[in-house]
Amino acid sequence: MQLLVIGDLHLGRDQWQPEIPEAWNAFDAILLVGDVVDTGANSFSGISDFYDSIGDLNPSTISIPGNHDYQSHTETIANISGIIDGHATKVQVGNATIGGLGSTLFDEGPEVRGRLLREYSPSLSLVEQIADATASGISDDGATFDKKALQWFQDRFANLSELQLGTADRPRVLLTHVPAYGTTGAALDSHPRHSGPVSWGSLALRRYIEETPLDLHVCGHIHEQAGQDTIGETVTVNAGYRQGFSIDLSTSGVGSVDPVAIQPRSDLR
Ligand SMILES: [Zn+2]
Repeated sequence: MQLLVIGDLHLGRDQWQPEIPEAWNAFDAILLVGDVVDTGANSFSGISDFYDSIGDLNPSTISIPGNHDYQSHTETIANISGIIDGHATKVQVGNATIGGLGSTLFDEGPEVRGRLLREYSPSLSLVEQIADATASGISDDGATFDKKALQWFQDRFANLSELQLGTADRPRVLLTHVPAYGTTGAALDSHPRHSGPVSWGSLALRRYIEETPLDLHVCGHIHEQAGQDTIGETVTVNAGYRQGFSIDLSTSGVGSVDPVAIQPRSDLR
């Protein structure tokens, strides 16, 4: 089967609107990774145009909320035919099981902030440490975690586990807005609040993918890091900003992953 994953579109940020080519009806499903709508842009007319057109063309279009549109996502897509709300649920498309978990907070960056971000280098032992930490926030080897960050990690991990993807039919796909910690799709060269590079990705998501045999994970959020990486056997794809990827998927896993350019609507050019 062939999937089209579309990255953050941020409709309403400017007058830009995407062309939706007829050829997209040939995809078995279209996955929207969140931030279709820019913060506060709910009145932009291009939003319903976009969802109506893409849902009409491909009724297996699955959408989850990002950190920009989580407050309005359910309402925005409620009465639009062909658009499936993929948040906190799983959807069967052909052979594939597609689980989704979008953003429910303004910014679902890493579950660990501050101290660890300032001294960043992507350390996978960090994932191990936070997963093993006790309720008081201390890991087996003595690393300490902020209790709020730990709670966030545990809640998010639980939300992912509730999708029960580990026992679903294969191929198994996970759709989130944020990338996983330590992947190339999560890397920021710099951040206004921190000096040097940071991994703006989820530790809980990383842990979940390490433990759950998935075939494909798709995400967005870090606009400048479109591309693919792997976590164990799982291929992870950050779809980027106003662009997409065509992904070939079968019961034996992910085949080719090819960039798809998204053009501005020709009548608006
Ligand atoms: Zn975004």
